Amino acid sequence: MAVPFRRVSKMKKRMRRSHLALSVPGMITCPNCGELTLAHRVCSNCGYYKGKQVVAPKAEKTEE
Ligand SMILES: [Zn+2]
Repeated sequence: MAVPFRRVSKMKKRMRRSHLALSVPGMITCPNCGELTLAHRVCSNCGYYKGKQVVAPKAEKTEE
């Protein structure tokens, strides 16, 4: 139910908003190139995953 904002105390407002924080996605540094990438994904910089080259790296694609 809507309540006029002056009727809600600062404490009540802050208590409610304590649950509104955004979470940061799981990031790791790539063991192959050291770039910061998402965990459990192929590295977007060098194309390595689990110590193997899975896809062609970005830099080589632009050279071709
Ligand atoms: Zn990498």
